[in-house]
Amino acid sequence: MKQCKKTQHTGRIHSIDSFATQDGPGIRFLLFMQGCIARCLYCQNPDTWELNTGFRMSANEVFKMINRCTPYMKASKGGITISGGEPLLQMDFITELFRLCKKESIHTAIDTSAFYDDRDKKSLRKLISLTDLFILDIKAGCEALHKKITARDMDEVLRFLNILESEKKPYWLRYVLVPGLNDSKEAIVSLKRILAWLKYCEKFEFLPYHTLGVHKWKYMKLKYPLHGIAPASPQQIKKARLMLKK
Ligand code: SF4
Repeated sequence: MKQCKKTQHTGRIHSIDSFATQDGPGIRFLLFMQGCIARCLYCQNPDTWELNTGFRMSANEVFKMINRCTPYMKASKGGITISGGEPLLQMDFITELFRLCKKESIHTAIDTSAFYDDRDKKSLRKLISLTDLFILDIKAGCEALHKKITARDMDEVLRFLNILESEKKPYWLRYVLVPGLNDSKEAIVSLKRILAWLKYCEKFEFLPYHTLGVHKWKYMKLKYPLHGIAPASPQQIKKARLMLKK
């Protein structure tokens, strides 16, 4: 008799918030994955970088927790959002979890910076088909600035955007505005050039740079690279929005 083999992927998880309101529509079950390779200058979660730590949970275990939250999630037209760290480094686990979610018609979202292993193309397409919404954090509009902000190439982000566009997948874009780093006219114009060719981007927003995570750098005995830069003010955000509109 043929035996049916069931794979159980476990995820490396950093933390869980069962009542989040900023990471997709409605009230979200928010899962922070452990592990990131981007090293962004303004990262507020450096404690998610380490690849081999975090606590392990199977997709079934996480799904059981999500199920307990479905009444208020569904009433608010919310769902589950996977954030991090970089979620796309753990595609197999998320794919398995989203399969379970889709069976219960739970809205699925991924908050990513699009830094993943390009050899995982097939897995990525599978995951995209199970994801209702991507929230993509774009660090810069040009390669030079991107290189300054993160350890990764901008090509990786453009490649991911191309895939979302070719799959006609709706997504939101976010740009953390850091005064004196990526808020110049040139920086905003290069961002505008990218936004101009995007068809399936449903929403774009500037997120004001803040310093709430700086204590984590100190705790981890890491030198904070943006020391002395003040959080972005509402006026600076407004100015960037105007430059983008012009
Ligand atoms: S991609 Fe996100 S988690 Fe990773 S270093 Fe950048 S800001 Fe931090």
